[in-house]
Amino acid sequence: MQPHNAGRRQQGLPVVVSEAEVREMVARLSAEIARDHPDDEVLYVVAIMKGALMFLADLVRHLTMPIEIELVNARSYQGTQRQSEVEILDDVASLPIAGRHVLLLDCVLDSGETLAALRRQVSARAPASLKTCVLLSKARERTTDLRPEYVGRTIPDVFVVGYGLDCGNRWRHLPYVAQLPPDRASKGEAR
Ligand code: 5GP
Ligand code: MG
Repeated sequence: MQPHNAGRRQQGLPVVVSEAEVREMVARLSAEIARDHPDDEVLYVVAIMKGALMFLADLVRHLTMPIEIELVNARSYQGTQRQSEVEILDDVASLPIAGRHVLLLDCVLDSGETLAALRRQVSARAPASLKTCVLLSKARERTTDLRPEYVGRTIPDVFVVGYGLDCGNRWRHLPYVAQLPPDRASKGEAR
């Protein structure tokens, strides 16, 4: 059955990762994560908000080990413009990380600075294990040496929205990932 809004959801944006491909990647990543983590140990999933919202929700529903979820707010973009400083807006020091198996999640790896900053803070709290997972990795130079253990796929170095990713807090609800051309971003479109 077609969703009632199948046509309108296309939005006229160039699709970078289709809904079906997102589903396939999430299933594959969850199988890789399950292979590396015992079924009887708690996996502490720490997801970067708000971008990892959809990815988190879909990924954990494939996993069968006990799971605890934490949401950490971070900010590195204003609209489509990258800020120079990554901000981890929550107090990682207050999280119960010591001795836990931690999985950091983000939707997209760009410079790598956000995950690297979070990884440093988590790593300092003595986790039993620490791995990182991104759905998308942009084909570009990294300014950090962070290499996620789990990567869905590489995408071109363009600004994308959908599947949790925003521009001005919009577009997150698209079930696919699409390029947002600069002219569409500057119009501040409401969808
Ligand atoms: P990094 O710190 O790796 O440069 O950037 C990662 C963060 O920047 C992500 O958490 C995401 O919120 C944001 N980001 C990076 N690239 C894009 C993009 O193409 N589109 C959107 N909407 N956000 C992005
Ligand atoms: Mg954003």
